[in-house]
Amino acid sequence: MTQEEEIIVIPGRWDLPFRHTAGRVASRFFHGLKAKRILALRCPRCQRVLMPPRPFCERCFQPLDDWVEVGQQGTLEAFTICYARFTGLPDPPYCLILVKLDGADSALQHLLGEVALEDVQSATQRIQIGMRLEALWREEREGGIKDIKYFRPVA
Ligand SMILES: [Zn+2]
Repeated sequence: MTQEEEIIVIPGRWDLPFRHTAGRVASRFFHGLKAKRILALRCPRCQRVLMPPRPFCERCFQPLDDWVEVGQQGTLEAFTICYARFTGLPDPPYCLILVKLDGADSALQHLLGEVALEDVQSATQRIQIGMRLEALWREEREGGIKDIKYFRPVA
């Protein structure tokens, strides 16, 4: 290749439908959500209650099997307002959050609802780290993370 030759860019698109097992831990978590229960796992060594539940404590490398139910309310840890469209996410704008549920030691990623997001300045004044949130459940639940429609500010 000489310096005069331009690098060729080939446009493409991958659209790969697939199925995979959720695994033992996520399956139990999702069965709980279908029953409107939010289940986490406690580490036998550090005693942290990990949300979302995972097979091992990432600090202690202990296998986890002590299921505990955590609260349906929690505290906002972080958020970002998205104005771009992504596959599998709501139409923009939407607000991705990390919420630390009562009784949990780590935060769950989900969506914030019932807060107007069109004007970013006013949205970021209304959304405050530390604000109290509660889960809003879907009427029709299928055993997945979307069984919680979103988290909303506690009235
Ligand atoms: Zn641990």
